[in-house]
Amino acid sequence: MPYVINDDCIACGACASDCPVGAISEGDGKYVIDPDTCIDCGACAGTCPVGAPQEG
Ligand code: SF4
Ligand code: SF4
Repeated sequence: MPYVINDDCIACGACASDCPVGAISEGDGKYVIDPDTCIDCGACAGTCPVGAPQEG
């Protein structure tokens, strides 16, 4: 299952540059993961300072 960024996201952008497949982009007030691109690697969850990316 692709990861999903929850509402705890503070839009810092750190995860976007760490995603190996470029699945993360800036959305409306938070960052979002394209579920069709995410390969479920978990890198974003390890990078995020607030634990917003969760396994979907
Ligand atoms: Fe990108 Fe991996 Fe996070 Fe999916 S789990 S959005 S592939 S960093
Ligand atoms: Fe949001 Fe966490 Fe990504 Fe920063 S690293 S943009 S807080 S999901």
